[in-house]
Amino acid sequence: MIESIEKIRTTAIDKVAEATSSEELEKLRVQYLGKKGELTQVLRGMGKLPPEERPKVGQLANQVRQELEKALQEAKENLARRELAERLKSETIDVTLPGRPIRKGSRHPLYQILNEIKDIFIGLGFDVAEGPEVESDYYNFEALNLPKDHPARDMQDSFYITPDVLLRTHTSPVQARVMESRKPEIPIRIIAPGKVYRRDDDATHSPMFFQVEGLLIDKRVTFGDLKGTLMAFLKQMFGKEVGVRFRPSYFPFTEPSAEVDMSCVMCGGEGCRVCSQTGWLEILGCGMVHPRVLSMSGYDPQEVSGFAFGLGVDRVAMLKYGIDDLRMFYDNDLRFLRQF
Ligand SMILES: [Zn+2]
Repeated sequence: MIESIEKIRTTAIDKVAEATSSEELEKLRVQYLGKKGELTQVLRGMGKLPPEERPKVGQLANQVRQELEKALQEAKENLARRELAERLKSETIDVTLPGRPIRKGSRHPLYQILNEIKDIFIGLGFDVAEGPEVESDYYNFEALNLPKDHPARDMQDSFYITPDVLLRTHTSPVQARVMESRKPEIPIRIIAPGKVYRRDDDATHSPMFFQVEGLLIDKRVTFGDLKGTLMAFLKQMFGKEVGVRFRPSYFPFTEPSAEVDMSCVMCGGEGCRVCSQTGWLEILGCGMVHPRVLSMSGYDPQEVSGFAFGLGVDRVAMLKYGIDDLRMFYDNDLRFLRQF
């Protein structure tokens, strides 16, 4: 009996000393000191011993149990210390490293252009007006001389919420809203920037895009005023003398109407890929406010006249920055957006 206890003592203490993880230590504890452990089994057999030997064996067994418990505890603490030391070594923090810089965002190129456009027109005496993006058929079409079944509606198919409510296809409804709310006040000088929606989607058309509408109503406003205003705007926007030409066109809400081209900013009018070798770039649409639009909004076409224009912010941005695919503005690719 004494021999087997001594044997347990030596082998167990050796094994504890060799253990390399806390799991191993726990296994050893169960193996020797657990309910079915080797030392426990030996003690259980004490009843078979003659009475005079029992105290001696009991004392030794208790001593071995204590030694083993102590060895296990020490081994556990050593392991924990070693593990901590290793972690500290592998997870060192170099406090002298420079900090990670916080990247600053920048304004989206379309909003930069939009702000530039606003600044130029504010400088020319215009106010900024706004209107709803979800618009009624009346303001989006009818008040602009586009009655139901007018063929020009085909060019502006949109997203309908109900047959009479749609996402506006242009910023022109703001014209009607402003005139209606301010009549008979003159002069009206506003620009209305904002998002508009159509069902087109390709390299030069996006289902959502930005427009800026302009409207001026006063006594004796002429086509010459319109031309002068737009030329002043383009000169400031593109920072140089640009050639401008007015081509007769048709819009239901202006009469006469014109498309405005400016000389190509890429080639200066020589002809290149961007301008399809013509030397000219279409930049906006404009005209004198149609007498019917004036009277529908409560103004007397015999008393006042005015001009209106609409330009695509995306188009101005593409020309100013030399971007040939409109979709880049909406992809949210930071490699693109960080360049502005
Ligand atoms: Zn060109």
